[in-house]
Formats: sequence, structure tokens, C-alpha cells
Amino acid sequence: MNEFLAILVHELRNALAPVANALLILRLSQETDSPVSSKARGLIERQVGHMSRLLDDLQEISRIEMGQLRFRPGLVDLREVVKTSVEAVMSTHAHHKHQVSVTLPADPIWLDADAIRMEQVVVNLLSNAANYTQEGGSIAIVAARAQDRAELRVADSGIGIAPELLPHIFDLFVRSEAAREHSRQGLGIGLNIVKRIVDLHGGSVEARSAGPGAGSEFVVSLPLVTSAA
Ligand code: ADP
Repeated sequence: MNEFLAILVHELRNALAPVANALLILRLSQETDSPVSSKARGLIERQVGHMSRLLDDLQEISRIEMGQLRFRPGLVDLREVVKTSVEAVMSTHAHHKHQVSVTLPADPIWLDADAIRMEQVVVNLLSNAANYTQEGGSIAIVAARAQDRAELRVADSGIGIAPELLPHIFDLFVRSEAAREHSRQGLGIGLNIVKRIVDLHGGSVEARSAGPGAGSEFVVSLPLVTSAA
């Protein structure tokens, strides 16, 4: 199954590459762009981008399943991870006009972690918060030290999660009906990746929600490096 997935991802990526290249050529030869063709091109560009992100996620799953996840731990300040991720996600969701608040302590939160993977965790949680929160809703990100743990909370005022779904929300390909209605894109892979990466770092992640329409909160807890200067 994993080998099949890896081959499938590879083949689909190869099929998509010439489409992306052709789009680039079209964009560079703008003189032939009528309003209609430029609108069509924009649509194709968005969908190619979306497909390529889905392929990235699928590739990640197949890598994790085959034990091939590249993992380079080092000393990482969780505050920096949060800052980079907030910038990356919120710039692509600016049109949703969310009220975003970020609360970080004055001192570093040192983790023994793979910085890129940690960013993937925070980006996935933030993207979900942005995707499943109505325009103008609020998103709050808090990173803090709690004794020998680092804690990251991503809370939103969005569509929420039904109680019966909460225990399964980190399973592969699980999506709520409300999520499908709210955003047709998505495969239900992101949270599974989050959980696997957090587990690999000796941490835990928990989802909380008072139910549909009541917002959601994701809490990540990770071992803190206390001896770092
Ligand atoms: P995707 O977002 O592509 O569906 P994820 O694995 O990231 O995949 O999330 C799985 C499901 O968990 C979503 O489809 C949605 O039902 C639910 N979910 C995740 N984050 C949130 C959130 N912040 N608010 C409400 N539901 C969420």
C-alpha cells in the first residue's frame, strides 16, 4: 500500500510538472491575456497549487509509513517557529480578515526538535484554524512554558467539532461533514501528520471543542530543554 502510494505520488507529480511549467510560460507571455483567459489561468494556477499541496501531504504520509521521515533534531526556540508559521499562514489567509492574536513569552522556549517538522505542525494547526473559521472570526495562538513542558495552544472561534468526532479527529482521512461543506478542499491528512510528528518528538496533542459552532482548540505539549543557556 505504501509503495503503491509512493509510486502514485511520483507519477502524479510527474504529470503535474508540465502543467505547472506551461502555466509559467502563459504567465510570462502576458500580452495574449484577455480578461477571460487570465481568469481561467488564475483558476488553473490555484488548482495546480492545491493539487501539489495534496501530493506533498500524501508523500509525507507514505514517508512516515515507510519509516523514511527525515528528522534532524536540534535546539529550536518554539517562539521562532510560531512567528515564522504565523507569517506564512496568515499572509495567505489575509482576505478572511481574522482577528489573530499571538502570545509569546519574553524568554526562549527551547525544544530538542526538527525545526522544519515543528513548523509543519504549527502551520497545519494554523491553516486549519484559518480554514474552518468564518470571515472576521478570531484565532489565538499561545506558546508558553508549563514546568518541564512546552505548550502550544491554537484556538479559534470557528465551526467547532462534534463530540463524537473528537476521539477520531487525528485519524487519517477523517473529515467532518461541516468541514466538507465549509471547505471542499482537503483530504483529512494534516492532523494525522501533526500527531505523528508530535509523537516522534515525545510530545502529545489534544483537540478540544464544545461542539459544532463553538470553536476548537488544539493543545500541543512537548518536552522542554531546560539546560540550554
Ligand atoms: P483537512 O483540513 O484537509 O480536512 P485535517 O487532517 O487537517 O484535514 O483535519 C481533519 C478534520 O478535522 C477536518 O476536516 C475538520 O473536520 C477537523 N478540523 C481540524 N481542524 C479544525 C478546526 N480548527 N476547526 C474545526 N474543525 C477542524
